[in-house]
Amino acid sequence: MSAHEITLIPGDGIGPEVTGAASEVLAAAGVDIRWRVAEAGAEVVSKYGSALPDQVLDSIKATRVALKGPLTTPVGRGFASPNVALRKALDLFASVRPVKTLPGVPVPFRDVDLVIIRENTEGEYSGIEHLVVPGVVESLKIITEKASTRISEFAFAHAVATGRTKVTAVHKANIMKMSDGLFLECARKVARGYPDIEYEELIVDATAMHLVARPQRFQLLLMENLYGDILSDLCAGLVGGLGVVPGANLGTDYAVFEAVHGSAPDIAGKGLANPAAVILSAAMMLRHLGEEEAGARIESAVAQVLADPAHHPRDLGGPATTQQVTDAVIAALDQ
Ligand code: ATP
Repeated sequence: MSAHEITLIPGDGIGPEVTGAASEVLAAAGVDIRWRVAEAGAEVVSKYGSALPDQVLDSIKATRVALKGPLTTPVGRGFASPNVALRKALDLFASVRPVKTLPGVPVPFRDVDLVIIRENTEGEYSGIEHLVVPGVVESLKIITEKASTRISEFAFAHAVATGRTKVTAVHKANIMKMSDGLFLECARKVARGYPDIEYEELIVDATAMHLVARPQRFQLLLMENLYGDILSDLCAGLVGGLGVVPGANLGTDYAVFEAVHGSAPDIAGKGLANPAAVILSAAMMLRHLGEEEAGARIESAVAQVLADPAHHPRDLGGPATTQQVTDAVIAALDQ
Protein backbone atom coordinates (compact mmCIF):
# COMPACT_ATOMS: atom_id res chain seq x y z
CA MET A 1 0.00 0.00 0.00
CA SER A 2 1.38 3.45 -0.86
CA ALA A 3 2.22 5.99 1.87
CA HIS A 4 -0.51 8.19 3.29
CA GLU A 5 0.34 11.83 2.72
CA ILE A 6 -0.80 13.80 5.77
CA THR A 7 -0.45 17.44 6.79
CA LEU A 8 1.15 17.81 10.21
CA ILE A 9 0.55 21.09 12.05
CA PRO A 10 2.78 21.07 15.16
CA GLY A 11 1.08 24.23 16.52
CA ASP A 12 1.80 26.30 19.61
CA GLY A 13 2.89 25.57 23.17
CA ILE A 14 2.97 21.83 23.86
CA GLY A 15 1.84 21.14 20.27
CA PRO A 16 5.27 20.22 18.84
CA GLU A 17 5.96 17.88 21.79
CA VAL A 18 2.67 15.99 21.61
CA THR A 19 2.37 15.82 17.82
CA GLY A 20 6.01 14.66 17.74
CA ALA A 21 5.05 11.90 20.18
CA ALA A 22 2.12 10.88 17.95
CA SER A 23 4.26 10.72 14.81
CA GLU A 24 6.80 8.53 16.67
CA VAL A 25 4.02 6.13 17.71
CA LEU A 26 2.58 5.98 14.17
CA ALA A 27 6.01 5.19 12.76
CA ALA A 28 6.53 2.47 15.39
CA ALA A 29 3.12 1.01 14.50
CA GLY A 30 4.44 0.53 10.98
CA VAL A 31 2.03 2.88 9.26
CA ASP A 32 3.60 4.38 6.14
CA ILE A 33 3.00 8.13 6.39
CA ARG A 34 4.64 10.95 4.48
CA TRP A 35 4.17 14.08 6.61
CA ARG A 36 3.88 17.54 5.09
CA VAL A 37 4.74 19.87 7.97
CA ALA A 38 2.77 23.14 7.94
CA GLU A 39 3.49 25.96 10.37
CA ALA A 40 0.57 27.76 12.00
CA GLY A 41 -0.24 29.50 15.27
CA ALA A 42 0.69 32.48 17.40
CA GLU A 43 4.37 31.69 17.09
CA VAL A 44 4.41 32.16 13.28
CA VAL A 45 2.37 35.39 13.05
CA SER A 46 5.53 37.53 12.86
CA LYS A 47 6.96 35.28 10.12
CA TYR A 48 3.88 34.98 7.85
CA GLY A 49 1.65 37.85 9.00
CA SER A 50 -1.07 35.35 9.91
CA ALA A 51 -1.67 32.59 12.45
CA LEU A 52 -3.15 30.52 9.63
CA PRO A 53 -0.97 31.09 6.55
CA ASP A 54 -2.45 30.18 3.15
CA GLN A 55 0.04 27.35 2.70
CA VAL A 56 -1.54 25.49 5.64
CA LEU A 57 -4.93 25.43 3.94
CA ASP A 58 -3.30 24.60 0.59
CA SER A 59 -1.51 21.66 2.20
CA ILE A 60 -4.70 20.25 3.77
CA LYS A 61 -6.57 20.74 0.50
CA ALA A 62 -3.87 18.62 -1.16
CA THR A 63 -3.61 15.88 1.49
CA ARG A 64 -7.28 16.06 2.64
CA VAL A 65 -6.27 14.83 6.10
CA ALA A 66 -4.30 16.60 8.85
CA LEU A 67 -3.03 15.93 12.36
CA LYS A 68 -3.06 19.20 14.22
CA GLY A 69 -1.52 20.49 17.43
CA PRO A 70 -3.25 23.27 19.38
CA LEU A 71 -3.18 26.86 18.12
CA THR A 72 -3.34 29.59 20.74
CA THR A 73 -6.29 31.97 20.56
CA PRO A 74 -5.74 35.31 22.26
CA VAL A 75 -8.48 36.27 24.72
CA GLY A 76 -10.28 39.57 24.04
CA ARG A 77 -8.26 41.62 21.55
CA GLY A 78 -5.74 40.31 18.99
CA PHE A 79 -6.08 38.06 15.94
CA ALA A 80 -9.17 35.90 15.46
CA SER A 81 -9.02 32.21 16.38
CA PRO A 82 -7.06 30.26 13.75
CA ASN A 83 -8.87 27.11 14.96
CA VAL A 84 -12.26 28.60 14.08
CA ALA A 85 -10.89 30.03 10.82
CA LEU A 86 -9.57 26.60 9.80
CA ARG A 87 -12.91 24.90 10.49
CA LYS A 88 -14.74 27.54 8.47
CA ALA A 89 -12.28 27.59 5.57
CA LEU A 90 -12.45 23.80 5.14
CA ASP A 91 -16.11 23.51 6.13
CA LEU A 92 -15.25 21.05 8.90
CA PHE A 93 -18.81 21.09 10.15
CA ALA A 94 -18.70 18.18 12.61
CA SER A 95 -16.60 17.96 15.73
CA VAL A 96 -16.40 14.41 17.06
CA ARG A 97 -15.11 13.87 20.59
CA PRO A 98 -15.24 10.36 22.04
CA VAL A 99 -15.13 10.35 25.84
CA LYS A 100 -14.29 6.97 27.31
CA THR A 101 -13.08 5.79 30.72
CA LEU A 102 -9.57 4.37 30.61
CA PRO A 103 -8.74 1.67 33.14
CA GLY A 104 -6.22 2.89 35.71
CA VAL A 105 -6.90 6.60 35.24
CA PRO A 106 -8.23 7.88 38.57
CA VAL A 107 -11.79 9.16 37.94
CA PRO A 108 -15.04 9.23 39.92
CA PHE A 109 -16.95 7.13 37.34
CA ARG A 110 -16.44 3.82 35.58
CA ASP A 111 -17.87 2.87 32.20
CA VAL A 112 -18.28 6.30 30.65
CA ASP A 113 -18.50 5.79 26.90
CA LEU A 114 -20.12 8.65 25.06
CA VAL A 115 -19.39 10.83 22.06
CA ILE A 116 -20.00 14.53 21.63
CA ILE A 117 -21.07 15.61 18.15
CA ARG A 118 -20.77 19.39 17.98
CA GLU A 119 -21.82 21.69 15.13
CA ASN A 120 -18.63 23.51 14.27
CA THR A 121 -19.44 26.34 11.88
CA GLU A 122 -22.08 28.62 13.37
CA GLY A 123 -23.93 29.32 16.64
CA GLU A 124 -22.18 31.91 18.79
CA TYR A 125 -18.98 31.23 16.80
CA SER A 126 -20.26 33.16 13.78
CA GLY A 127 -17.89 35.90 14.95
CA ILE A 128 -20.49 38.59 14.26
CA GLU A 129 -20.11 41.08 17.08
CA HIS A 130 -20.31 44.84 17.08
CA LEU A 131 -20.52 47.86 19.30
CA VAL A 132 -24.06 49.24 19.25
CA VAL A 133 -23.24 52.30 21.39
CA PRO A 134 -20.40 52.66 23.91
CA GLY A 135 -21.12 50.23 26.72
CA VAL A 136 -23.38 48.00 24.61
CA VAL A 137 -22.14 45.16 22.42
CA GLU A 138 -24.25 42.89 20.25
CA SER A 139 -23.12 39.33 19.45
CA LEU A 140 -25.15 37.26 17.03
CA LYS A 141 -25.90 33.56 17.35
CA ILE A 142 -26.60 32.11 13.92
CA ILE A 143 -28.54 28.86 13.57
CA THR A 144 -29.51 27.66 10.12
CA GLU A 145 -31.76 24.85 8.98
CA LYS A 146 -29.03 23.67 6.60
CA ALA A 147 -26.26 23.35 9.20
CA SER A 148 -28.56 21.94 11.89
CA THR A 149 -29.93 19.28 9.55
CA ARG A 150 -26.45 18.41 8.30
CA ILE A 151 -25.02 17.91 11.82
CA SER A 152 -28.10 15.93 12.89
CA GLU A 153 -27.75 13.63 9.89
CA PHE A 154 -24.08 13.23 10.71
CA ALA A 155 -24.87 12.40 14.35
CA PHE A 156 -27.46 9.72 13.57
CA ALA A 157 -25.26 8.16 10.90
CA HIS A 158 -22.37 8.16 13.40
CA ALA A 159 -24.60 6.47 15.99
CA VAL A 160 -25.47 3.71 13.55
CA ALA A 161 -21.85 3.29 12.40
CA THR A 162 -20.56 2.99 15.96
CA GLY A 163 -23.34 0.82 17.37
CA ARG A 164 -24.89 3.48 19.61
CA THR A 165 -28.63 3.26 20.18
CA LYS A 166 -29.52 6.63 21.70
CA VAL A 167 -29.05 10.28 20.67
CA THR A 168 -29.54 13.19 23.09
CA ALA A 169 -30.04 16.62 21.50
CA VAL A 170 -28.82 19.32 23.91
CA HIS A 171 -30.43 22.78 23.77
CA LYS A 172 -31.70 25.87 25.54
CA ALA A 173 -34.87 26.24 23.49
CA ASN A 174 -36.86 27.33 26.54
CA ILE A 175 -34.95 30.63 26.39
CA MET A 176 -33.60 30.75 22.81
CA LYS A 177 -36.92 29.70 21.37
CA MET A 178 -36.21 30.53 17.75
CA SER A 179 -32.54 29.59 17.34
CA ASP A 180 -32.37 26.47 19.50
CA GLY A 181 -35.98 25.80 18.53
CA LEU A 182 -34.90 25.52 14.89
CA PHE A 183 -31.96 23.32 15.85
CA LEU A 184 -34.34 20.92 17.63
CA GLU A 185 -36.86 20.96 14.79
CA CYS A 186 -34.11 19.81 12.42
CA ALA A 187 -32.85 17.14 14.84
CA ARG A 188 -36.42 15.81 15.29
CA LYS A 189 -36.98 15.60 11.55
CA VAL A 190 -33.79 13.59 11.09
CA ALA A 191 -34.62 11.41 14.12
CA ARG A 192 -37.86 10.32 12.45
CA GLY A 193 -35.76 8.59 9.77
CA TYR A 194 -34.03 6.48 12.46
CA PRO A 195 -36.81 4.62 14.31
CA ASP A 196 -34.32 2.17 15.84
CA ILE A 197 -32.39 4.94 17.60
CA GLU A 198 -33.89 6.36 20.77
CA TYR A 199 -34.07 10.16 20.59
CA GLU A 200 -34.32 12.52 23.56
CA GLU A 201 -33.96 16.27 24.12
CA LEU A 202 -32.35 17.76 27.19
CA ILE A 203 -31.73 21.36 28.28
CA VAL A 204 -28.03 22.17 28.45
CA ASP A 205 -27.93 23.05 32.15
CA ALA A 206 -29.77 19.84 33.05
CA THR A 207 -27.36 17.96 30.79
CA ALA A 208 -24.41 19.37 32.75
CA MET A 209 -26.01 18.16 35.99
CA HIS A 210 -26.75 14.67 34.63
CA LEU A 211 -23.22 14.42 33.22
CA VAL A 212 -21.63 14.87 36.63
CA ALA A 213 -24.22 12.68 38.37
CA ARG A 214 -24.72 9.72 36.00
CA PRO A 215 -22.77 10.11 32.75
CA GLN A 216 -23.38 6.46 31.82
CA ARG A 217 -26.94 7.41 30.78
CA PHE A 218 -25.54 9.13 27.67
CA GLN A 219 -24.34 7.57 24.43
CA LEU A 220 -24.23 10.43 21.93
CA LEU A 221 -24.70 14.13 22.68
CA LEU A 222 -25.69 16.29 19.70
CA MET A 223 -25.41 20.05 20.11
CA GLU A 224 -24.59 23.44 18.65
CA ASN A 225 -21.19 25.05 18.84
CA LEU A 226 -20.85 26.79 22.21
CA TYR A 227 -22.60 24.11 24.27
CA GLY A 228 -20.31 21.56 22.58
CA ASP A 229 -17.22 23.55 23.49
CA ILE A 230 -18.16 23.80 27.15
CA LEU A 231 -19.51 20.28 27.62
CA SER A 232 -16.47 18.77 25.84
CA ASP A 233 -14.21 20.08 28.58
CA LEU A 234 -16.68 18.96 31.25
CA CYS A 235 -16.73 15.47 29.72
CA ALA A 236 -12.92 15.44 29.53
CA GLY A 237 -12.96 15.96 33.29
CA LEU A 238 -15.10 12.82 33.68
CA VAL A 239 -12.41 10.58 32.21
CA GLY A 240 -9.13 12.07 33.43
CA GLY A 241 -8.91 15.54 31.93
CA LEU A 242 -7.77 17.24 28.76
CA GLY A 243 -4.66 15.09 28.44
CA VAL A 244 -6.61 11.97 27.45
CA VAL A 245 -9.48 13.09 25.18
CA PRO A 246 -9.04 12.92 21.39
CA GLY A 247 -11.02 14.64 18.70
CA ALA A 248 -11.71 15.08 15.01
CA ASN A 249 -13.11 17.90 12.91
CA LEU A 250 -14.77 16.42 9.87
CA GLY A 251 -16.28 17.83 6.71
CA THR A 252 -17.37 16.37 3.42
CA ASP A 253 -13.96 16.78 1.81
CA TYR A 254 -11.43 17.19 4.62
CA ALA A 255 -10.63 15.78 8.05
CA VAL A 256 -8.49 17.38 10.76
CA PHE A 257 -7.63 15.36 13.87
CA GLU A 258 -6.70 17.14 17.08
CA ALA A 259 -6.94 16.83 20.86
CA VAL A 260 -9.55 18.78 22.81
CA HIS A 261 -6.85 20.56 24.83
CA GLY A 262 -5.20 23.88 24.07
CA SER A 263 -1.55 24.89 23.88
CA ALA A 264 -1.01 24.65 27.68
CA PRO A 265 1.56 27.49 27.77
CA ASP A 266 2.16 26.84 31.47
CA ILE A 267 3.92 23.53 30.75
CA ALA A 268 5.14 24.08 27.17
CA GLY A 269 8.71 23.01 26.43
CA LYS A 270 9.11 21.21 29.76
CA GLY A 271 8.49 17.66 28.55
CA LEU A 272 5.56 17.31 30.96
CA ALA A 273 2.60 17.26 28.55
CA ASN A 274 0.43 14.19 28.34
CA PRO A 275 0.68 13.00 24.72
CA ALA A 276 -2.22 10.51 25.05
CA ALA A 277 -4.90 12.85 23.66
CA VAL A 278 -2.98 13.53 20.45
CA ILE A 279 -1.85 9.91 20.11
CA LEU A 280 -5.52 8.83 20.41
CA SER A 281 -6.49 11.52 17.87
CA ALA A 282 -3.89 10.03 15.53
CA ALA A 283 -5.47 6.60 16.10
CA MET A 284 -8.85 8.07 15.09
CA MET A 285 -7.11 9.41 12.00
CA LEU A 286 -5.81 5.94 11.14
CA ARG A 287 -9.33 4.49 11.37
CA HIS A 288 -10.52 7.30 9.06
CA LEU A 289 -7.76 6.31 6.61
CA GLY A 290 -8.90 2.69 6.67
CA GLU A 291 -5.99 1.59 8.90
CA GLU A 292 -8.39 0.07 11.44
CA GLU A 293 -5.98 -2.52 12.77
CA ALA A 294 -3.15 -0.04 13.46
CA GLY A 295 -5.63 2.41 15.02
CA ALA A 296 -6.97 -0.29 17.36
CA ARG A 297 -3.44 -1.40 18.29
CA ILE A 298 -2.48 2.15 19.25
CA GLU A 299 -5.67 2.64 21.28
CA SER A 300 -5.09 -0.52 23.26
CA ALA A 301 -1.40 0.35 23.77
CA VAL A 302 -2.40 3.74 25.26
CA ALA A 303 -5.01 2.08 27.50
CA GLN A 304 -2.46 -0.49 28.64
CA VAL A 305 0.16 2.16 29.46
CA LEU A 306 -2.26 4.40 31.34
CA ALA A 307 -3.51 1.42 33.35
CA ASP A 308 -0.19 1.63 35.24
CA PRO A 309 0.12 4.72 37.50
CA ALA A 310 3.92 4.57 37.14
CA HIS A 311 3.38 5.65 33.52
CA HIS A 312 1.06 8.52 34.35
CA PRO A 313 2.25 11.99 33.36
CA ARG A 314 1.90 14.93 35.70
CA ASP A 315 -1.69 15.87 34.78
CA LEU A 316 -2.79 12.40 35.99
CA GLY A 317 -0.72 12.78 39.15
CA GLY A 318 2.21 10.63 38.03
CA PRO A 319 5.94 11.04 37.40
CA ALA A 320 6.26 10.21 33.67
CA THR A 321 7.55 12.67 31.09
CA THR A 322 6.07 13.07 27.60
CA GLN A 323 8.92 10.96 26.19
CA GLN A 324 8.52 8.23 28.80
CA VAL A 325 4.80 7.91 28.06
CA THR A 326 5.56 7.82 24.34
CA ASP A 327 8.25 5.15 24.76
CA ALA A 328 5.91 3.06 26.93
CA VAL A 329 3.15 3.26 24.30
CA ILE A 330 5.62 2.17 21.62
CA ALA A 331 6.79 -0.74 23.79
CA ALA A 332 3.15 -1.75 24.41
CA LEU A 333 2.36 -1.88 20.68
CA ASP A 334 3.89 -5.31 20.38
CA GLN A 335 2.35 -6.84 23.49
P1 ATP B 1 -5.27 27.77 24.94
O1 ATP B 1 -5.31 29.25 25.02
O2 ATP B 1 -4.36 27.28 23.86
O3 ATP B 1 -6.63 27.12 24.91
P2 ATP B 1 -5.18 27.22 27.81
O4 ATP B 1 -4.04 27.15 28.78
O5 ATP B 1 -6.24 28.23 28.00
O6 ATP B 1 -4.57 27.28 26.31
P3 ATP B 1 -5.38 24.41 27.76
O7 ATP B 1 -4.16 24.46 26.93
O8 ATP B 1 -6.44 23.50 27.31
O9 ATP B 1 -5.98 25.84 27.85
O10 ATP B 1 -4.93 24.05 29.23
C1 ATP B 1 -5.77 24.08 30.38
C2 ATP B 1 -5.01 23.39 31.51
O11 ATP B 1 -4.89 21.99 31.24
C3 ATP B 1 -3.59 23.91 31.69
O12 ATP B 1 -3.27 23.98 33.05
C4 ATP B 1 -2.74 22.88 31.00
O13 ATP B 1 -1.44 22.76 31.56
C5 ATP B 1 -3.53 21.59 31.18
N1 ATP B 1 -3.33 20.71 30.01
C6 ATP B 1 -3.92 20.84 28.79
N2 ATP B 1 -3.51 19.90 27.96
C7 ATP B 1 -2.63 19.13 28.64
C8 ATP B 1 -1.83 17.98 28.30
N3 ATP B 1 -1.87 17.42 27.08
N4 ATP B 1 -1.03 17.47 29.25
C9 ATP B 1 -0.99 18.02 30.48
N5 ATP B 1 -1.70 19.09 30.86
C10 ATP B 1 -2.52 19.65 29.95
